[in-house]
Amino acid sequence: MKPSRRTFLNVVGTTALTLALPTVARTGEALPPRKTHLVTLSFDDGFKKSFARIAEIYEKHRLSACLNVVAAGLADDAYIKTSPLGDFELWNELKRRGHEVMPHGYRHENLARLPLDQAQELVKRCLDVFSERLSGFDPKQAVFNFPYNASTPELERWLPTQVRAFRTGGGAINPWPHRGQVKLTCVSSGPGNCEAAIDRELERLLARKSGWLVFNTHGLDEEGWGPIRAAYLEELLERLLALETVEILPAGRALAKYAA
Ligand SMILES: [Zn+2]
Repeated sequence: MKPSRRTFLNVVGTTALTLALPTVARTGEALPPRKTHLVTLSFDDGFKKSFARIAEIYEKHRLSACLNVVAAGLADDAYIKTSPLGDFELWNELKRRGHEVMPHGYRHENLARLPLDQAQELVKRCLDVFSERLSGFDPKQAVFNFPYNASTPELERWLPTQVRAFRTGGGAINPWPHRGQVKLTCVSSGPGNCEAAIDRELERLLARKSGWLVFNTHGLDEEGWGPIRAAYLEELLERLLALETVEILPAGRALAKYAA
């Protein structure tokens, strides 16, 4: 009898299973994840020109970018005001194309300097705008990225009642995504070009057995605080894609994939 395609697939499936079984039986536990080093470049603020270009560069490498934008589309910050910001038309388009678009405050307020109730009000207002204007946005899957990476213990305790997780200042290397993980910490570097800082943190990450690097970046070339060159981003993604243990993911997707 001529084997059908179905039979062939069954044979291949059985063989793969047979090969996998002894490893599981020998160790008595699940196989470790194939990837051991996660990298998230967490781009803040929402510059129209840079974010469109960042998305293009990620797409060229079949990757999803991690883009964090202010809900009001404007910010009282000297480094942000100098360049035009995108709007929800662009954010919806980039999301449709597979990128992650997450909240970065209502108007980029430093929430740590405000009374708790005012800060909470601004977070809620920000999330309301996202729910209303960003197609498919679900706060329960969202990562709230603190403006200036400035949080307080009270806000950190309250945020998980509103969103899946939050990103604030701290060490750049986080543990591998796990259940119950609500706090992500990151570093950034500026106001000048921050490429050397990214390279330094990557070296630290790769020297470890495993970990999750969350580096907070901003615009490309001359845009925003602590920018990187578009050419550097291209070269960096290529460099990382060549490393077998490394996976490049946006923060929310990393949590959804490994800590659901
Ligand atoms: Zn910002």
